[in-house]
Order: sequence, then C-alpha cells, then structure tokens
Amino acid sequence: TKWIYSFGAGHNEGNAGMRNLLGGKGANLAEMANIGLPVPPGFTITTEVCSAFYDNGRAYPQDLSEQLEAAMAQVESAMGLRFGDANAPLLVSVRSGARVSMPGMMDTVLNLGLNDVTVEGLVKSSGDSRFAWDSYRRFIQMYGSVVLNVPHHRFEDILEQAKRELDKEDDTALTAEDWQLVVKDYKSIVQNETGKPFPEEPKDQLWGAIGAVFGSWMNPRANTYRKLHDIPASWGTAVNVQSMVFGNMGTDCATGVCFTRDPSTGENIFYGEYLINAQGEDVVAGIRTPQPMSADRATPDQNPMEKTLPGAYQELLRVRELLERHYKDMQDIEFTVQSNKLYMLQTRNGKRTAAAALRIAIDMAQEGLITQEEAITRVPPSSLDQLLHPVLDPKAERTQLARGLPASPGAATGIIAFSAEDVEDLAAKGEDVILVRIETSPEDVHGMHAARGVLTTRGGMTSHAAVVARGMGRVCVAGAGSITVDYKAQTMSVNGHTLKAGDWLTLDGGTGAIYLGRVPTIPPSLSGDFSTLMGWADSVRRLGVRANAETPEDAETARRFGAEGIGLCRTEHMFFGPDRIGHVRQMIMAEDPKVRTRAIDALLPFQRDDFTALFRIMAGLPVTIRLLDPPLHEFLPHGEAELKDVAAALGQDVEALRARRSALSEANPMLGHRGCRLGISHPEIYAMQVRAIAEAALAISKETGKSVIPEIMIPLVGTKAELDLVRKSCEAVIKSVLEEQGAELSYLIGTMIELPRAAITADKIAESADFFSFGTNDLTQTALGLSRDDAGSFLPAYVDKGLLPQDPFISIDREGVGALVRMGVEKGRATKPKLKLGICGEHGGDPLSITFFEEVGLDYVSCSPFRVPVARLASAQAAL
Ligand code: PEP
Ligand code: MG
Repeated sequence: TKWIYSFGAGHNEGNAGMRNLLGGKGANLAEMANIGLPVPPGFTITTEVCSAFYDNGRAYPQDLSEQLEAAMAQVESAMGLRFGDANAPLLVSVRSGARVSMPGMMDTVLNLGLNDVTVEGLVKSSGDSRFAWDSYRRFIQMYGSVVLNVPHHRFEDILEQAKRELDKEDDTALTAEDWQLVVKDYKSIVQNETGKPFPEEPKDQLWGAIGAVFGSWMNPRANTYRKLHDIPASWGTAVNVQSMVFGNMGTDCATGVCFTRDPSTGENIFYGEYLINAQGEDVVAGIRTPQPMSADRATPDQNPMEKTLPGAYQELLRVRELLERHYKDMQDIEFTVQSNKLYMLQTRNGKRTAAAALRIAIDMAQEGLITQEEAITRVPPSSLDQLLHPVLDPKAERTQLARGLPASPGAATGIIAFSAEDVEDLAAKGEDVILVRIETSPEDVHGMHAARGVLTTRGGMTSHAAVVARGMGRVCVAGAGSITVDYKAQTMSVNGHTLKAGDWLTLDGGTGAIYLGRVPTIPPSLSGDFSTLMGWADSVRRLGVRANAETPEDAETARRFGAEGIGLCRTEHMFFGPDRIGHVRQMIMAEDPKVRTRAIDALLPFQRDDFTALFRIMAGLPVTIRLLDPPLHEFLPHGEAELKDVAAALGQDVEALRARRSALSEANPMLGHRGCRLGISHPEIYAMQVRAIAEAALAISKETGKSVIPEIMIPLVGTKAELDLVRKSCEAVIKSVLEEQGAELSYLIGTMIELPRAAITADKIAESADFFSFGTNDLTQTALGLSRDDAGSFLPAYVDKGLLPQDPFISIDREGVGALVRMGVEKGRATKPKLKLGICGEHGGDPLSITFFEEVGLDYVSCSPFRVPVARLASAQAAL
C-alpha cells in the first residue's frame, strides 16, 4: 500500500480531490503545488495509516518506515539540506489534518530536527545565532507540551523567571546566550516531568510527533467533538510533514494570514495581516500587533505589506488571483516570506458573515467564476435571518447579564416594562420598550406588538412568546431561567443585578444574549444582492412558500418578503383586541344559547373585516383560514374585574359565572377542549367564521373582479367523522350566504394533520378533505408526548446528552414525526392523487426540515413572514 504522498519540488502525488485520503490541509497543499504555487516541499501520511494504526492495536504498517525514509530523502534533495546535518540541518513542521478541520486534536510542531548539534548548524547556515537558539527553545517548548504532555505553564514559568533574572521585559530582548540558558532549563523540566531526557535524535523526534498526531485522534476532546458533529471515528487523520521556511530570520522575512475577499462585507479587496520577522504562533499569541496587507486599509502609523515587502506582496496578489480562479471560492490563506521569497503554507475556503456570503456569491456569479445555481448553494439559508433585522453594533461595548433561547432574531434595545399595558403607554409616548414577562399569553399580544423586543424567563422555542414574536418579526429571547421577575416590585434580578421598570436593557434574539443598558444597534441593509439571490432561488425551487399571518401588517410583510399566499391564518389570534375580547368571553361563558348567539353575532363584522383585509392584501393569492383553535383557558376571564365585566354583560351572577369558569377550566388544556372539538360542541362559532369568510371573499371578488378562492381549514381533526360533521355545517352556511346574495363562490375545505391518528388514517380523512396542512407543532407534541409549552426546561439537556439530535420543535424529527408526515402524504395521495399538501408548523421555516418536505413531495411550506426568504432559499437548495 502507498502510505505517503509527496508534494512540492516537482513531486506532487496528491490533489484537492483526495481530501478523504490526505485530509483537507494535505490535499490543498498538493493542489497548490500542482498549480505552480510556491509550497515548501513535504509529504502527507494518509488517513489510512491512522485507521491501520488503530486496527492493529496502535501499531504502524510494517512498510511505513521505509516509505517515510524515502519521502524524507526526496524532501532533503529538493531542499539541498539533510535532516540532522551538523552544518546545515533540514528542519520540518508536523501538522495534523483531518477531512474537516477538527479542534481538540494535536495541531502543530515547528522547527523539528533541532538538537544540541544541529542548532550549531543552524547558527552557521543562517548566520544568526540568536535566531537559531530562539528556534530551538520554541521547538522544545512546543514538542514538550504537545507531544510529551509537559504542562505548558511549566515552560512559561521558566521563561518569566529568566526574564526577571535578566531584567528584560520582552522576549525580543533576549540574546542567544540568554536563550541557551532557557534551553537548558527547559530540558531539565522535560527530564523531571517525563523521567526521560528530551529526545535528541531527529528521527525519534519525527516519529514522536507523528505518534502524537495519530494518538490525538482518539483523545477525549476529539471524541466529543466528533460525536457532536457526526464525524465517524473511522475517517482518521492525516499527518503533514513539511520543510520549514522561516519568517523570523530578519526584517526581509514575515508571516501572515489573509482572505482573498473581505470576510465581513464580502467586498472584493485583499484583506489580511502580517508580521515582519515572526513565526506563525506570534500572530496567534497576540504578542505583537500585526500590520495590514494593503495601503488603503492602513492608518498612518502602520506599515502595509505592499510598502515594506513590495516583491512578496506582488507575488501574493498573483497567488490571490490564481487561487480564486482555481477554487472558485473565497480563500483563507497562510503564508511565510523568507528572505523576500513567498511560500504558501495553507489554503481553504474562508469563513464569512452572512452579508459577505451573499455578496461573494452574487459577485462570483457575475464575474463568471461560478454559475447561478452554485451561487444559490453558497449562502446558508438560516444566515439570511441576520440580514433582515437590526443587529448590535459590532463596535459597541456591552455587559452580558444572562442568556436565554434565541427565539426570534435581531437586536433590540429599550426601557423595561413588565406589562403589555405599560408597554403600550410608553410606546405611545415614543419610547423604545422591552417587554419583560415570566411568560406571555394571547392577552399580551398588543404589548408585544408595541415593544421593540420581548424577554421571557420561562418557555421554549415554540412557547407563545417565541411563536408570536417570530410571526411579528419582534426580537425575542425566551426562557432565560436565571432571571427572576417580580411583578409586584417591578424588578428583574440576575447575577447580583437588579433592574427596575424604566431601566435600559438590550436583547440579541439571534444569540439569546441579554445585555445591561443600552447597546446601539445598526439597521439591516436589504441590498440589491439580496433580491438578486432571491430571484435566482425562485427560478429553481419546486416548493411553494406561504406565510403564517393574521394581521394586515404581517400579511404585508409576508408579501414584501415574497410569500405566495397565506398558509395559516390563526383566527384565535384575532380575538384579543380590546373591542372584541369581551364578546369572545361572553360567547364562551354563556350557558344560554340565545345569549351566546348574541355575542357571536357581535363578532361577525369584526371577522368579516379581518378577512376582507387579508384577501385584499393577498390579491388573489391563496389564503388558508383556520377556524378557531384555542386552548380554551386562554379565553377565560382571569381576574375578578374581568369576571365582573363578563357577568354584567351576560346579566349573570358573579358566583354562577365563577362556577362556570371552574367547570370550563381544564387540567390539560392542550389535549382538551380545543380545535374542532370546540366547533363541534358550539357549531355557532364556526358558522359565524365561515359566514365571515364567505362574505369577505364575495366582497373582494366583486371589488377586484377577480375570484377569491378561500381555503377553510379545520384544526385538530383525529377522525374522518369529525371532519365530515364540521364540513357539512360549513357547506350549509356557505350555501345560505350564496343564496342570500345570489352569488357563486369556489372554495376548499381541508384539514390540519396534527394528530398521529389523523396521519395514520389519512386515506380515510382525504375522502372528505380538499387539502391537508401538516401541523407539525402539535404533531411533534403528540407524537413524542412532549408538551410544547413545558419541554424547554429539560429538552436542551436531552440534546446536549445526544438523546435527540436536535430540538424536535425546531427541526423535524425525521424518524418519528417525519414518518407520520410521510405516511399522511402517501395515504392521502393514495385516496386523492392531486390532494394539495402543505405544512404550517414552525418547521416550515427551518432549512433542514424543508429538505425533508421537498423529499416527501409536499406542495408548499408556510412559515412566519420573516422566515419567508429563508424558506425560499432553502427550498431552492433542496431542489438542486
Ligand atoms: C401546528 O400545530 O403545527 C400548527 C400550525 O398549529 P398551532 O401551532 O396553532 O397549534
Ligand atoms: Mg396545532
């Protein structure tokens, strides 16, 4: 077997396509050598050696050492130097390199090959004894800590002590003689800690470093990282051995890192930093401040590389061009300049912000470097969220108070208010307000609307606060359990801070962080690039994208973001306006059907206006209206005052009403009197809603001359019989509206599939349904037997322990809930091949879940308005 692949100096046996065998770093070093870039000669020991090593009880393949000697000989001849030579020694670096970059493993040993004899050779060949002895002590320090496991601080302590004794502050002030003393002390530390002398023989050093790389593949930190990121242990790591070039051999030497484009804005400029007369770890350690690469980024006191090392800089510019044209993506590169000559040490696709990803994708497509389809795949859909909301000014100082769940993205700053009423009052006076609640309920919606952001101390990612805030595009941090809220005292306390109503607070809904005081935010920029990418995405996606919206404001936002209709209008959210809630309470609390009818009649004009507004905004696009689906308890009168109001309106005794309230309250409201069950026990409610829908549809058809086809959706259906019953009464109502008006109307009546029984019997239910919309929030809750409202307290621990791959309320549980969806699709279409299928649970805006919905062949996804762009892009990627 071939265990080793050479690169550089005319011996290039690998390429970028061999990432699995050579690891990311090794494959790219070979690739750079292939395209003629200056790569110091070296070789890669393959990942197969790592696998063989572990398969054979930590023993190397027999012929490895023979191949290693041959590879070293090639490097020696390419460099014209010999490993261990007493006059001009070859030195090498040893680095790990898995298929994907993986923290937790051994990283790098530099200057390997130095010992008491070769250091003198380095003095001669470099003509610089300070440089040689400094390199030697660096080597002992690195090798000692990463290969021999001597605690790093032991070396630091010695260095500090030496500096004290020599009365020198900076490392750079130490002379060759000083470093010789340090080397001596370092070696005795190694002897003391390991019980063995520091290995002098270069070959032993090399095998030791190789063994340390392979050994680190199975260390606990690497194992944990692999588990968290689903990286199989069988992949193994490669080892890269490369001849050293020195950036610390004088003022015509340097080391640096750069990006081929600006990684924070995406602008097509050369972006990077370098340090004169330094080795890589100096940049990382932050001992000296690096200088900018190009003059237009430099302040007057800085020395841009294009001035100080113009030759090497020109060469880098050429490399930048070449790498981008070759890899067709923005590159993150490491280089060293030795005696004015440039060497490339690494290249890889660069990490970038959402804004940069967008700009780079569009620019590269327009430059002809990549296709439009490639551009679509270059932007992570979830990152778009960052672009649609204000963000914290990155330059602003901040003090973090606590952290909750990142429930709805964006940054918001404002003064604290503890009730929806207070928020409204303050907002009306022009204040920016943050609503702080233990949890929110539908009664708080008006306050959430008036607030800049919402903070709750209880509840998960699908809690009321989270869902409603996302829908409205309000910033929300939910379930910040370390905060204590005292409504009475009007305070919130955390970590020794107590904040009062009126104090400033800042939320980052993208990270869940909560900051003390006022942290400035900057507005989003929906540049031309954004709409360009969206247009490209729309041209390739198959899935339709609708929005969950019930207010005109949300419907308009949804249209602006490109929604192709409304997939879910939750009518219960329409019942909380101050002008309506009284009627709703009467409707629910009334025992006398006549009284109930009166209350319901009072609601009809409100609902008709609501639907008319939605149909008008959606201008002929489909609108799915779901009939009332309340957890009943949310509508019951809570306090004494409310109870009295309702009693007065109903002309009833308060005591009788109190008894009625306790009769109606449920131990388990989410599994209780909600959804179509309520419509079945009180058919008048659904009748009123259906009448409002029909009348609104007819009105808008008349107004616009275009027919509106409403989609009426029945919630929480578990059996075909339920749907049949509700469907029949809906049809009767529509018939009488049409007769009254002498008009015609096309309409659809469909159902949510959000109970396991509905998915399992979808073939039967489909007989009575014109469409299905999967309610994956309730389907997840009922399939896993996991409360939407309470799971937040323990679910994160489940994910941490790996019991669940991710929060099933955020990303669909493919294996369980997904199987129910698939069954619902197959059974539904077996009955009606053309049955229209959608999804309107929170998963409709989650990119991973969207991949699944594409796979099972749904017709559309529906999500909160601010996630519409995310869903458009994710659907396009799923289709490619
Ligand atoms: C669902 O259950 O997925 C759904 C969309 O309905 P709701 O969230 O209103 O229960
Ligand atoms: Mg539901």
